[in-house]
Amino acid sequence: MSTHDVIVVGAGLAGLSAARDLAAAGADVLVLEARARAGGRVEQTTTADGRLVQLGGEVVGASHTSYRALVGELGLTLGPSFTDIPGESTWLMNDGRFLGDEMPWMSARDRALYEEIERRFSALAGSVDPDDPWAHPDARALDRISVGDWLRSEGATPDVVRAMELRAMGLADASVERRSLLADLRKEASAGALGFYDYEAWESEKVVEGSATVALQMAEQLGHRVRYSSPVASIDVGGDGVRVSLHSGERFRAGDVVCALPAGPLRDLRISGVSAEYRDSLRRREHAPTAKLVSVYDSSFWEANGQNGTGYFERTLLGGTWVQNTGMLSALVPVDRLGPYRALPADARTRVLLGELGEAYGPEGASPAAVFVRDWHADTWTQGYITAWRPGELTAVGPLHGSHEPPFWVVGSDQWVCGYMEGAVRTGRAAAQRLISG
Ligand SMILES: Cc1cc2nc3c(=O)[nH]c(=O)nc-3n(C[C@H](O)[C@H](O)[C@H](O)COP(=O)(O)OP(=O)(O)OC[C@H]3O[C@@H](n4cnc5c(N)ncnc54)[C@H](O)[C@@H]3O)c2cc1C
Repeated sequence: MSTHDVIVVGAGLAGLSAARDLAAAGADVLVLEARARAGGRVEQTTTADGRLVQLGGEVVGASHTSYRALVGELGLTLGPSFTDIPGESTWLMNDGRFLGDEMPWMSARDRALYEEIERRFSALAGSVDPDDPWAHPDARALDRISVGDWLRSEGATPDVVRAMELRAMGLADASVERRSLLADLRKEASAGALGFYDYEAWESEKVVEGSATVALQMAEQLGHRVRYSSPVASIDVGGDGVRVSLHSGERFRAGDVVCALPAGPLRDLRISGVSAEYRDSLRRREHAPTAKLVSVYDSSFWEANGQNGTGYFERTLLGGTWVQNTGMLSALVPVDRLGPYRALPADARTRVLLGELGEAYGPEGASPAAVFVRDWHADTWTQGYITAWRPGELTAVGPLHGSHEPPFWVVGSDQWVCGYMEGAVRTGRAAAQRLISG
């Protein structure tokens, strides 16, 4: 049984950024990763003509300070994302296809109402502490109500709720009827409480060298300290340290263990020696699953029609599109549409999704030079996409969210507000810092 100062379980952005800081501080750290590659929910591949394609996490925004700092330390570059591309958005609605910046079904009164309710949402978000939403005097009530019910209680018309629902589908988030208001308020509070979802704060930048390059570069720096194809089955915390066992039966010992797994795979681990209260809180956390499609063309042909490649789709399996790079569209199947997607025969899924791109962007949209589909929802080592908070879940998980029971440390994007790359880097580095400073 080999012995280490710290064992990190999972080589995604969280585990790697924790291990990198620990190794830099001189700790003997070993990373155990189930897959044969590093990166977890960030993953990239290359087209036949050498273009990088991101199959997982892609964009960040101005509020993602930990991620941006890491990118700088690694010598990588941040550049503008799709939010800067001029042109008109595409609205594929039940009642037709529309182009334009405005939501086509909204009257002037609906738009004014939408903006007024967004102002009220921002003000309410400003009263929530993202690090301690449970301390809000109305925490339970705000958590119990869905975003949809709250919108209606504020006087939103069905057309205003429709706008919010379409935005949720575009982000592959859960429906407004199945999201906790408190969780949404906390998410926006963490980004400055600027609105329902401020694209500048969340999605305006990307790593020019490729999002997954951030993880790959850290894994390269860690070298032999990362062991691949080593899925962990159990963690046993005892008075004299921690024992970690692989599915193969191989065992390791360490002073501390940093668990850097998504909510689902974390639930699958056998964990002993931590309090029942802590384990229950970990096991309550949920994920919104998704499938991602990336469609690669010779050029950004949609620009000739005045389209900017950003799409919001109401009548399809895809929730919408955005431009990943020149001649490349990304799209997600949101959780509420995964049922019909999974009911399709596997060999029909890509054809159906491409048909939807054809509806939005014309026949060229349905005939890419290359197409990639990644079923993250069905991936044993991920089982999801971003954190999903149903009404009542945030208070049920409680203030143990994001906490640790040393020598058992839990990091990862799902331990921050909502499951983005920022949360992975932020929680990974914060735990490493605490370990280093003793
Ligand atoms: C399709 C998609 C699009 C996304 N888009 C964005 C975006 O644009 N912007 C953004 O900020 N975020 C986005 N995200 C979310 C973001 O990618 C993740 O939140 C982040 O990368 C998670 O990092 P992590 O290290 O916490 O977890 P993960 O990346 O999931 O890493 C966990 C690691 O643990 C490994 N593992 C699992 N089980 C075991 C086990 N038993 N033993 C050992 N290892 C195990 C996994 O293989 C994985 O490598 C997206 C995610 C997906 C799937």
